[in-house]
Amino acid sequence: MSSRNCPHCGHRLGNYLYADACPSCHRELTHNTRPLVTPPKLDPNRVRSPMYRAFLGLRNAIER
Ligand SMILES: [Zn+2]
Repeated sequence: MSSRNCPHCGHRLGNYLYADACPSCHRELTHNTRPLVTPPKLDPNRVRSPMYRAFLGLRNAIER
């Protein structure tokens, strides 16, 4: 929301809004790199869902 400008040098990011680093000062844009550290696959609700269990069971059946 409030990350349109580089937090380090204030450079307007524009097309680099979702880049890992600022195109001007080349420092890490933490608001972009942080979400990559916690992928949505680790969501416990998704893992426990019956659909996901069925998928795992089906995959095991194919592999064996
Ligand atoms: Zn910058």
